[in-house]
Amino acid sequence: MSILKCAKCGQYTLKEICPVCKEKAINPAPAKFSIVHSQKYGKYRRELMRQAKEREQTKE
Ligand SMILES: [Zn+2]
Repeated sequence: MSILKCAKCGQYTLKEICPVCKEKAINPAPAKFSIVHSQKYGKYRRELMRQAKEREQTKE
C-alpha cells in the first residue's frame, strides 16, 4: 500500500479518491521530486548519484 496525494488540494490519502475534494489522488512519486531537484541542483545531484552508485557497487 502506498500513500497517495490529491493532485488538486494536496491532501494525503490511502484511497484513490481524495476524501476532501473527491479528486483523483496520485502517487507523489519521488521521481517527480527529483526532477525538480535536478533542475535546481543539477551538479550537486549528479555528484550524489555518483556517490550512491559507488556505494551500491561496494555493497555487493
Ligand atoms: Zn483533494
